[in-house]
Amino acid sequence: MQSINSLLEKDDFSRQDIIELLTSDKKALPELLARAYDIKSKYVGNTVYYRGIIEFSNICDKNCYYCGIRKDNLEPERYRISREEILEAAKFALENEYGSLVLQSGEIKNEAFTTYIESILRDIKNLSDGKLGITLSLGEQSLETYKRWYEAGAHRYLLRIETSNSDLYQQLHPNDHDFKARFQALKDLKNCGYQVGTGMMIGLPGQAMEDLAADILFMKNQNIDMIGMGPFIPHQNTPLSNSLGEFDAIRESQLELSLKMIAITRIVLKDVNIAATTALQALDPIGREKGLEAGANIIMPNITDTKYREGYQLYENKPCLDENSDKCKGCLEARITSIGEAIGYNEWGDSPHYFNRTEKKR
Ligand code: SAM
Ligand code: SF4
Repeated sequence: MQSINSLLEKDDFSRQDIIELLTSDKKALPELLARAYDIKSKYVGNTVYYRGIIEFSNICDKNCYYCGIRKDNLEPERYRISREEILEAAKFALENEYGSLVLQSGEIKNEAFTTYIESILRDIKNLSDGKLGITLSLGEQSLETYKRWYEAGAHRYLLRIETSNSDLYQQLHPNDHDFKARFQALKDLKNCGYQVGTGMMIGLPGQAMEDLAADILFMKNQNIDMIGMGPFIPHQNTPLSNSLGEFDAIRESQLELSLKMIAITRIVLKDVNIAATTALQALDPIGREKGLEAGANIIMPNITDTKYREGYQLYENKPCLDENSDKCKGCLEARITSIGEAIGYNEWGDSPHYFNRTEKKR
Protein backbone atom coordinates (compact mmCIF):
# COMPACT_ATOMS: atom_id res chain seq x y z
CA MET A 1 0.00 0.00 0.00
CA GLN A 2 1.53 3.36 -1.05
CA SER A 3 0.92 6.59 0.84
CA ILE A 4 -1.63 8.93 -0.71
CA ASN A 5 1.09 11.54 -1.18
CA SER A 6 3.39 9.31 -3.17
CA LEU A 7 0.44 8.08 -5.23
CA LEU A 8 -0.63 11.61 -6.06
CA GLU A 9 2.89 12.48 -7.22
CA LYS A 10 2.65 9.92 -10.03
CA ASP A 11 2.12 10.82 -13.65
CA ASP A 12 1.08 7.44 -14.95
CA PHE A 13 -1.55 5.46 -13.02
CA SER A 14 -2.10 1.72 -12.98
CA ARG A 15 -5.45 0.14 -12.22
CA GLN A 16 -4.12 -0.77 -8.78
CA ASP A 17 -3.07 2.86 -8.12
CA ILE A 18 -6.58 4.01 -8.99
CA ILE A 19 -8.16 1.38 -6.75
CA GLU A 20 -5.98 2.60 -3.88
CA LEU A 21 -7.08 6.18 -4.49
CA LEU A 22 -10.73 5.14 -4.69
CA THR A 23 -10.53 3.22 -1.43
CA SER A 24 -8.39 5.79 0.38
CA ASP A 25 -9.50 6.89 3.81
CA LYS A 26 -12.01 9.71 4.19
CA LYS A 27 -9.28 11.68 5.98
CA ALA A 28 -7.26 11.72 2.74
CA LEU A 29 -10.15 13.17 0.72
CA PRO A 30 -9.09 16.85 1.11
CA GLU A 31 -5.64 15.99 -0.28
CA LEU A 32 -7.12 14.12 -3.22
CA LEU A 33 -9.51 16.97 -4.02
CA ALA A 34 -6.79 19.60 -3.66
CA ARG A 35 -4.53 17.73 -6.12
CA ALA A 36 -7.40 17.40 -8.60
CA TYR A 37 -8.17 21.11 -8.26
CA ASP A 38 -4.52 22.02 -8.94
CA ILE A 39 -4.50 19.87 -12.06
CA LYS A 40 -7.79 21.35 -13.23
CA SER A 41 -6.39 24.89 -12.74
CA LYS A 42 -3.26 24.01 -14.68
CA TYR A 43 -4.85 22.16 -17.62
CA VAL A 44 -8.32 23.68 -18.12
CA GLY A 45 -8.38 26.77 -15.86
CA ASN A 46 -10.93 28.02 -13.35
CA THR A 47 -13.69 29.03 -15.70
CA VAL A 48 -16.94 27.07 -15.62
CA TYR A 49 -18.75 26.66 -18.94
CA TYR A 50 -22.51 26.34 -19.16
CA ARG A 51 -24.47 24.04 -21.46
CA GLY A 52 -28.18 24.81 -21.16
CA ILE A 53 -29.86 21.41 -21.35
CA ILE A 54 -33.19 20.97 -23.14
CA GLU A 55 -34.78 17.62 -22.26
CA PHE A 56 -37.05 17.85 -25.26
CA SER A 57 -38.67 14.39 -25.14
CA ASN A 58 -39.09 11.51 -22.71
CA ILE A 59 -40.28 9.12 -25.41
CA CYS A 60 -37.86 6.21 -25.50
CA ASP A 61 -37.76 2.91 -27.35
CA LYS A 62 -35.40 1.37 -24.81
CA ASN A 63 -35.80 -0.29 -21.46
CA CYS A 64 -32.59 0.25 -19.49
CA TYR A 65 -33.21 -1.30 -16.08
CA TYR A 66 -32.10 1.80 -14.15
CA CYS A 67 -33.92 4.59 -15.97
CA GLY A 68 -37.15 6.26 -14.89
CA ILE A 69 -38.22 7.05 -18.47
CA ARG A 70 -37.69 3.51 -19.75
CA LYS A 71 -40.35 2.41 -22.20
CA ASP A 72 -42.12 0.02 -19.82
CA ASN A 73 -42.64 2.63 -17.12
CA LEU A 74 -46.21 3.62 -17.86
CA GLU A 75 -46.33 6.33 -15.22
CA PRO A 76 -44.76 9.41 -16.84
CA GLU A 77 -46.90 11.21 -19.34
CA ARG A 78 -44.94 11.06 -22.57
CA TYR A 79 -44.13 14.38 -24.23
CA ARG A 80 -42.21 15.89 -27.08
CA ILE A 81 -41.64 19.62 -26.94
CA SER A 82 -42.64 21.53 -30.05
CA ARG A 83 -40.10 23.08 -32.38
CA GLU A 84 -41.21 26.55 -31.27
CA GLU A 85 -40.64 25.72 -27.61
CA ILE A 86 -37.19 24.28 -28.32
CA LEU A 87 -36.29 27.45 -30.20
CA GLU A 88 -37.68 29.53 -27.35
CA ALA A 89 -35.35 27.70 -24.94
CA ALA A 90 -32.45 28.21 -27.36
CA LYS A 91 -33.27 31.93 -27.42
CA PHE A 92 -33.20 31.96 -23.63
CA ALA A 93 -29.72 30.39 -23.71
CA LEU A 94 -28.53 32.94 -26.26
CA GLU A 95 -29.95 35.94 -24.41
CA ASN A 96 -28.48 34.70 -21.15
CA GLU A 97 -25.07 34.21 -22.80
CA TYR A 98 -24.86 30.48 -22.10
CA GLY A 99 -22.64 29.77 -25.11
CA SER A 100 -23.86 26.20 -25.63
CA LEU A 101 -26.87 23.92 -25.55
CA VAL A 102 -27.42 20.23 -24.99
CA LEU A 103 -30.36 18.56 -26.71
CA GLN A 104 -31.26 15.39 -24.82
CA SER A 105 -34.08 12.85 -25.09
CA GLY A 106 -35.00 9.21 -24.93
CA GLU A 107 -33.62 7.07 -27.74
CA ILE A 108 -35.59 7.02 -30.98
CA LYS A 109 -34.06 5.59 -34.12
CA ASN A 110 -35.93 6.36 -37.31
CA GLU A 111 -35.75 8.57 -40.36
CA ALA A 112 -38.43 10.98 -39.17
CA PHE A 113 -36.53 11.60 -35.91
CA THR A 114 -33.20 12.00 -37.72
CA THR A 115 -34.68 14.56 -40.12
CA TYR A 116 -36.46 16.40 -37.30
CA ILE A 117 -33.21 16.79 -35.31
CA GLU A 118 -31.37 17.87 -38.45
CA SER A 119 -33.85 20.66 -39.03
CA ILE A 120 -33.84 21.72 -35.37
CA LEU A 121 -30.05 21.94 -35.47
CA ARG A 122 -30.19 24.17 -38.55
CA ASP A 123 -32.88 26.34 -36.94
CA ILE A 124 -30.81 26.83 -33.78
CA LYS A 125 -27.74 27.69 -35.81
CA ASN A 126 -29.75 30.22 -37.84
CA LEU A 127 -31.45 31.72 -34.81
CA SER A 128 -28.14 32.26 -33.05
CA ASP A 129 -26.13 33.20 -36.13
CA GLY A 130 -23.91 30.20 -35.38
CA LYS A 131 -23.14 31.49 -31.89
CA LEU A 132 -24.62 28.63 -29.85
CA GLY A 133 -22.51 25.49 -29.65
CA ILE A 134 -24.66 22.35 -29.72
CA THR A 135 -24.09 19.04 -27.94
CA LEU A 136 -26.38 16.10 -28.62
CA SER A 137 -27.30 13.32 -26.22
CA LEU A 138 -29.69 11.15 -28.20
CA GLY A 139 -28.33 7.68 -27.66
CA GLU A 140 -27.06 5.08 -30.12
CA GLN A 141 -27.62 5.95 -33.74
CA SER A 142 -26.17 4.84 -37.07
CA LEU A 143 -22.94 6.31 -38.42
CA GLU A 144 -25.00 7.92 -41.19
CA THR A 145 -27.25 9.67 -38.69
CA TYR A 146 -24.31 10.90 -36.62
CA LYS A 147 -22.78 12.31 -39.82
CA ARG A 148 -25.98 14.11 -40.81
CA TRP A 149 -26.32 15.72 -37.39
CA TYR A 150 -22.67 16.77 -37.41
CA GLU A 151 -23.11 18.38 -40.80
CA ALA A 152 -26.26 20.13 -39.58
CA GLY A 153 -24.29 21.85 -36.81
CA ALA A 154 -23.84 19.61 -33.75
CA HIS A 155 -20.18 19.38 -32.77
CA ARG A 156 -20.24 17.50 -29.45
CA TYR A 157 -22.00 14.26 -28.50
CA LEU A 158 -22.55 12.62 -25.12
CA LEU A 159 -23.03 8.88 -25.00
CA ARG A 160 -22.31 7.27 -21.68
CA ILE A 161 -20.84 3.79 -21.82
CA GLU A 162 -22.57 3.44 -18.39
CA THR A 163 -19.94 0.89 -17.31
CA SER A 164 -16.88 -0.42 -19.14
CA ASN A 165 -17.50 -3.91 -17.71
CA SER A 166 -19.39 -5.68 -20.50
CA ASP A 167 -20.86 -8.30 -18.12
CA LEU A 168 -22.20 -5.64 -15.79
CA TYR A 169 -23.49 -3.70 -18.80
CA GLN A 170 -25.48 -6.77 -19.83
CA GLN A 171 -26.94 -7.12 -16.32
CA LEU A 172 -28.18 -3.54 -16.44
CA HIS A 173 -29.92 -3.87 -19.78
CA PRO A 174 -32.30 -6.23 -21.56
CA ASN A 175 -30.85 -8.72 -24.03
CA ASP A 176 -31.39 -6.55 -27.07
CA HIS A 177 -28.83 -4.04 -25.72
CA ASP A 178 -25.30 -4.72 -26.81
CA PHE A 179 -22.14 -3.41 -25.18
CA LYS A 180 -20.23 -3.83 -28.44
CA ALA A 181 -22.75 -1.67 -30.30
CA ARG A 182 -22.43 1.06 -27.67
CA PHE A 183 -18.65 0.94 -27.91
CA GLN A 184 -18.84 1.06 -31.71
CA ALA A 185 -21.11 4.12 -31.49
CA LEU A 186 -18.41 5.95 -29.53
CA LYS A 187 -15.90 5.11 -32.26
CA ASP A 188 -18.33 6.25 -34.96
CA LEU A 189 -18.82 9.56 -33.20
CA LYS A 190 -15.09 10.13 -33.10
CA ASN A 191 -14.74 9.24 -36.77
CA CYS A 192 -17.40 11.78 -37.68
CA GLY A 193 -15.33 14.52 -36.02
CA TYR A 194 -17.37 15.13 -32.86
CA GLN A 195 -15.87 16.01 -29.53
CA VAL A 196 -16.86 12.81 -27.80
CA GLY A 197 -18.26 12.60 -24.31
CA THR A 198 -18.85 9.48 -22.30
CA GLY A 199 -19.14 8.48 -18.67
CA MET A 200 -20.67 6.06 -16.28
CA MET A 201 -23.02 5.70 -13.39
CA ILE A 202 -21.21 5.41 -10.08
CA GLY A 203 -22.28 3.05 -7.29
CA LEU A 204 -24.30 0.69 -9.47
CA PRO A 205 -25.48 -2.62 -8.00
CA GLY A 206 -22.80 -5.22 -8.72
CA GLN A 207 -20.14 -2.60 -9.52
CA ALA A 208 -16.76 -3.12 -7.83
CA MET A 209 -13.95 -0.61 -7.22
CA GLU A 210 -12.01 -2.58 -9.85
CA ASP A 211 -14.74 -1.71 -12.35
CA LEU A 212 -14.60 2.01 -11.55
CA ALA A 213 -10.81 1.99 -11.86
CA ALA A 214 -11.17 0.25 -15.23
CA ASP A 215 -13.75 2.88 -16.24
CA ILE A 216 -11.23 5.67 -15.73
CA LEU A 217 -8.61 3.83 -17.78
CA PHE A 218 -11.23 3.09 -20.44
CA MET A 219 -11.88 6.83 -20.86
CA LYS A 220 -8.16 7.51 -21.01
CA ASN A 221 -7.43 4.75 -23.52
CA GLN A 222 -10.37 5.76 -25.71
CA ASN A 223 -9.08 9.33 -25.82
CA ILE A 224 -12.39 10.71 -24.58
CA ASP A 225 -12.79 14.51 -24.69
CA MET A 226 -15.64 15.14 -22.27
CA ILE A 227 -16.90 13.28 -19.25
CA GLY A 228 -20.38 13.18 -17.79
CA MET A 229 -20.62 10.77 -14.89
CA GLY A 230 -22.65 10.79 -11.75
CA PRO A 231 -24.10 8.69 -8.97
CA PHE A 232 -26.63 5.98 -9.74
CA ILE A 233 -29.87 6.89 -7.95
CA PRO A 234 -32.66 4.29 -8.00
CA HIS A 235 -36.08 5.07 -9.43
CA GLN A 236 -39.08 3.35 -7.86
CA ASN A 237 -40.68 2.22 -11.14
CA THR A 238 -37.67 0.37 -12.46
CA PRO A 239 -36.32 -3.15 -12.03
CA LEU A 240 -33.40 -1.72 -10.01
CA SER A 241 -35.61 0.18 -7.55
CA ASN A 242 -34.48 -1.78 -4.48
CA SER A 243 -31.13 -2.91 -5.75
CA LEU A 244 -29.14 -0.89 -3.20
CA GLY A 245 -31.40 -1.41 -0.18
CA GLU A 246 -32.40 1.69 1.81
CA PHE A 247 -30.96 4.47 -0.38
CA ASP A 248 -30.90 7.12 2.37
CA ALA A 249 -28.38 4.99 4.24
CA ILE A 250 -25.87 5.20 1.37
CA ARG A 251 -26.65 8.67 0.02
CA GLU A 252 -23.51 10.16 1.56
CA SER A 253 -21.21 7.36 0.43
CA GLN A 254 -22.61 7.58 -3.14
CA LEU A 255 -21.76 11.28 -3.13
CA GLU A 256 -18.28 10.73 -1.73
CA LEU A 257 -17.51 8.01 -4.27
CA SER A 258 -18.75 10.23 -7.10
CA LEU A 259 -16.53 13.12 -5.96
CA LYS A 260 -13.58 10.74 -5.75
CA MET A 261 -14.30 9.52 -9.29
CA ILE A 262 -14.35 13.11 -10.59
CA ALA A 263 -11.12 13.97 -8.78
CA ILE A 264 -9.24 10.85 -9.91
CA THR A 265 -10.49 11.25 -13.48
CA ARG A 266 -9.16 14.81 -13.48
CA ILE A 267 -5.82 13.65 -12.06
CA VAL A 268 -5.45 10.83 -14.59
CA LEU A 269 -6.93 12.42 -17.75
CA LYS A 270 -5.96 16.05 -17.05
CA ASP A 271 -7.09 18.18 -20.05
CA VAL A 272 -10.66 16.86 -20.56
CA ASN A 273 -13.94 18.64 -19.83
CA ILE A 274 -15.78 17.10 -16.86
CA ALA A 275 -19.39 17.92 -16.01
CA ALA A 276 -20.65 18.40 -12.47
CA THR A 277 -23.90 16.55 -13.15
CA THR A 278 -27.41 17.17 -11.86
CA ALA A 279 -27.42 13.79 -10.08
CA LEU A 280 -24.80 15.21 -7.68
CA GLN A 281 -27.27 17.95 -6.81
CA ALA A 282 -29.93 15.31 -6.16
CA LEU A 283 -27.74 13.92 -3.38
CA ASP A 284 -26.67 17.27 -1.95
CA PRO A 285 -28.07 20.75 -2.64
CA ILE A 286 -24.52 21.95 -3.29
CA GLY A 287 -23.40 18.71 -4.95
CA ARG A 288 -22.56 20.37 -8.25
CA GLU A 289 -20.37 23.00 -6.56
CA LYS A 290 -18.64 20.15 -4.72
CA GLY A 291 -18.12 18.57 -8.15
CA LEU A 292 -16.43 21.76 -9.38
CA GLU A 293 -14.17 21.73 -6.35
CA ALA A 294 -13.31 18.09 -7.11
CA GLY A 295 -12.13 18.94 -10.63
CA ALA A 296 -15.22 19.37 -12.83
CA ASN A 297 -15.45 22.46 -15.09
CA ILE A 298 -18.83 22.16 -16.86
CA ILE A 299 -22.38 22.73 -15.58
CA MET A 300 -25.55 21.93 -17.48
CA PRO A 301 -28.34 24.18 -16.17
CA ASN A 302 -31.76 22.82 -17.05
CA ILE A 303 -33.54 25.23 -19.41
CA THR A 304 -36.47 22.94 -20.21
CA ASP A 305 -39.85 24.55 -19.48
CA THR A 306 -40.81 23.52 -15.92
CA LYS A 307 -44.10 22.01 -17.10
CA TYR A 308 -42.18 19.11 -18.66
CA ARG A 309 -39.77 18.38 -15.83
CA GLU A 310 -42.04 16.01 -13.93
CA GLY A 311 -42.00 13.82 -17.03
CA TYR A 312 -38.18 13.56 -17.13
CA GLN A 313 -37.55 11.90 -13.78
CA LEU A 314 -34.64 9.58 -14.53
CA TYR A 315 -34.24 8.93 -10.81
CA GLU A 316 -35.90 9.87 -7.51
CA ASN A 317 -35.71 13.47 -6.29
CA LYS A 318 -34.31 14.96 -9.48
CA PRO A 319 -33.76 18.60 -8.45
CA CYS A 320 -35.13 21.89 -9.85
CA LEU A 321 -38.53 20.38 -10.67
CA ASP A 322 -40.30 23.68 -10.37
CA GLU A 323 -37.55 26.27 -10.52
CA ASN A 324 -37.59 28.15 -13.76
CA SER A 325 -34.41 28.79 -15.72
CA ASP A 326 -34.28 32.49 -14.77
CA LYS A 327 -34.36 31.72 -11.07
CA CYS A 328 -31.78 28.94 -11.38
CA LYS A 329 -29.44 31.26 -13.29
CA GLY A 330 -29.05 33.87 -10.54
CA CYS A 331 -28.58 31.37 -7.74
CA LEU A 332 -26.16 29.22 -9.72
CA GLU A 333 -24.02 32.21 -10.64
CA ALA A 334 -23.74 33.30 -7.01
CA ARG A 335 -22.80 29.80 -5.92
CA ILE A 336 -20.13 29.38 -8.58
CA THR A 337 -18.50 32.74 -7.96
CA SER A 338 -18.60 32.11 -4.19
CA ILE A 339 -16.17 29.22 -4.66
CA GLY A 340 -13.80 31.46 -6.63
CA GLU A 341 -14.59 30.28 -10.16
CA ALA A 342 -15.50 32.43 -13.15
CA ILE A 343 -18.28 31.69 -15.68
CA GLY A 344 -17.38 31.53 -19.36
CA TYR A 345 -20.36 33.44 -20.72
CA ASN A 346 -20.81 33.41 -24.51
CA GLU A 347 -18.05 30.85 -24.94
CA TRP A 348 -18.32 27.30 -26.21
CA GLY A 349 -15.74 26.10 -23.70
CA ASP A 350 -14.65 23.19 -25.88
CA SER A 351 -12.55 20.39 -24.47
CA PRO A 352 -8.82 21.25 -24.59
CA HIS A 353 -8.19 17.51 -24.99
CA TYR A 354 -9.97 17.53 -28.36
CA PHE A 355 -7.55 20.15 -29.71
CA ASN A 356 -4.57 18.41 -28.19
CA ARG A 357 -5.49 15.03 -29.70
CA THR A 358 -6.48 16.34 -33.14
CA GLU A 359 -3.93 19.17 -33.30
CA LYS A 360 -6.74 21.33 -34.65
CA LYS A 361 -6.63 25.06 -33.97
CA ARG A 362 -9.16 26.45 -31.50
N1 SAM B 1 -31.32 8.23 -24.04
C1 SAM B 1 -30.00 8.74 -24.13
C2 SAM B 1 -29.00 7.74 -23.62
O1 SAM B 1 -29.37 6.82 -22.91
O2 SAM B 1 -27.82 7.90 -23.95
C3 SAM B 1 -29.83 10.07 -23.41
C4 SAM B 1 -30.70 10.31 -22.23
S1 SAM B 1 -30.40 9.26 -20.83
C5 SAM B 1 -31.70 9.67 -19.79
C6 SAM B 1 -28.98 10.08 -20.09
C7 SAM B 1 -28.29 9.35 -18.97
O3 SAM B 1 -29.14 9.29 -17.82
C8 SAM B 1 -27.95 7.92 -19.19
O4 SAM B 1 -26.76 7.79 -19.97
C9 SAM B 1 -27.78 7.37 -17.77
O5 SAM B 1 -26.42 7.29 -17.38
C10 SAM B 1 -28.48 8.44 -16.92
N2 SAM B 1 -29.45 7.80 -16.00
C11 SAM B 1 -30.55 7.12 -16.31
N3 SAM B 1 -31.12 6.59 -15.20
C12 SAM B 1 -30.36 6.97 -14.15
C13 SAM B 1 -30.40 6.73 -12.75
N4 SAM B 1 -31.36 6.00 -12.20
N5 SAM B 1 -29.43 7.27 -11.96
C14 SAM B 1 -28.45 8.03 -12.51
N6 SAM B 1 -28.35 8.28 -13.82
C15 SAM B 1 -29.28 7.75 -14.65
FE1 SF4 C 1 -33.97 5.44 -22.77
FE2 SF4 C 1 -31.59 6.62 -22.33
FE3 SF4 C 1 -33.28 6.00 -20.30
FE4 SF4 C 1 -32.02 4.04 -21.59
S1 SF4 C 1 -31.06 5.68 -20.36
S2 SF4 C 1 -34.20 4.07 -21.05
S3 SF4 C 1 -31.99 4.87 -23.68
S4 SF4 C 1 -33.63 7.47 -21.91
